[in-house]
Amino acid sequence: MSVVNEKSNVVVIKPTSQPRTAFADNSWKNYKEEGPLGKIRWNHWNKETILVHSAGARGESGPYVSIPTYTGTTSAALTCDELAKRFANAVVDGRQGKIYSRLGTSSGFELECALAGLHDCGDVLVLGSGMAAISHLFLTLVTAGDNIVVHRTMYGCTDGLCNTILPELGIETRYVDLRNPEILKKVIDDKTRLVFFETPANPTLDLIDIKAVVDEVKGRVPVIVDNTFCSPLGQNPFEQGANIVVYSITKSIGGHSDAIGGAILGSGKFIANIYPIRNDIGGILSARESAAFLTGIKTLSLRYNQMQESAREIAKLLKSSNKVKKVYYPEFDEKYPLNGQMKGPGYIISVVLDSLESGKKFVESLRVITNAVSLGGVESLVCHPASTTHAVVAKEQRESKDIVDGLIRLSIGCESLEDLKKDIQRALDSI
Ligand code: PLP
Repeated sequence: MSVVNEKSNVVVIKPTSQPRTAFADNSWKNYKEEGPLGKIRWNHWNKETILVHSAGARGESGPYVSIPTYTGTTSAALTCDELAKRFANAVVDGRQGKIYSRLGTSSGFELECALAGLHDCGDVLVLGSGMAAISHLFLTLVTAGDNIVVHRTMYGCTDGLCNTILPELGIETRYVDLRNPEILKKVIDDKTRLVFFETPANPTLDLIDIKAVVDEVKGRVPVIVDNTFCSPLGQNPFEQGANIVVYSITKSIGGHSDAIGGAILGSGKFIANIYPIRNDIGGILSARESAAFLTGIKTLSLRYNQMQESAREIAKLLKSSNKVKKVYYPEFDEKYPLNGQMKGPGYIISVVLDSLESGKKFVESLRVITNAVSLGGVESLVCHPASTTHAVVAKEQRESKDIVDGLIRLSIGCESLEDLKKDIQRALDSI
């Protein structure tokens, strides 16, 4: 990047055609490499214990079982030297909330440490939403003239980012079906900067073999997995060789539909590359939201296990009905569990009914399960992707990805299984 002082006193920063530093320096390669923060040594604990002790376990905030939430934006220092020292160590001190809250907060830092422990990865950054995490991540790795490779189906706003915003910035998106990873032989070239997918994918629950993708990519570009549907309990993509993991923590990690947030996980050096981008673009997770996540995360394993057990029963009930044309649930997919990649089938089920009318009738006949977007909370939700989460995807394109008008997505929560089954049966009978 060059700076040109023109006679007219205009300072011009010329665009650069170089690959982004975070891509070119290979910092994304080794997810275990620790960051300057130093990872908490959680490794001797099982995930359930990490979850329960995630707030306050660093012991830096005093002898609390849950850390106090400090919502102030700026942090005072007695001397100029002291504040200068914090700035010099910004990547550490800023993230612990010792400078200014856009650079990090103590509760956000605590959450980052817990997520790192759950995945045994080098470092984590939390952001203001799942979309903030995904967009900051892409902007860290790609620039005009580059291309990215993504799976054919994904969450609607991620799709919007890939099919509209990135192309408008001069970045090409290549949609492929990663259920057949050999396709990567044809699509990756020297301008490719990342391969991105969700597995199971939203909303058709396509299952992608992470290791098979990694084997095809051969370390040329980062393999990034959005692990939102599974949570850290259902699948750890790093174990299969993924380089970077992203989450909408709004879903099962928070679990109560009361806080929105996202997270990027990877090596310490890679996260250090994204940190200044989070500061300058500003997609920070606030202290109050972080505190809500630190409460929600404690019960993730209890919630996740119950939601999954209920979903298994409900998926069987739906499959046995002649009103349902198709049930998408990982356990019914012949690839499941992908050589141990998935630890369980999860709590999301999609079904295809014969028409939009039947779909509407089904949704509107439910009394316990609520018609609302989002997923992963303690309350069961139902949604019609074609008219809501995926409405931004053109109908023709939607249908080529199996997101037909009769597709309904269910997120099973923690209500009584008996009540849920009765609710589903009533809705099926109404069609
Ligand atoms: N990724 C997946 C798989 C999602 O389902 C969602 C939202 O539903 C997102 C990302 C975006 O997350 P957020 O709503 O927290 O921005």
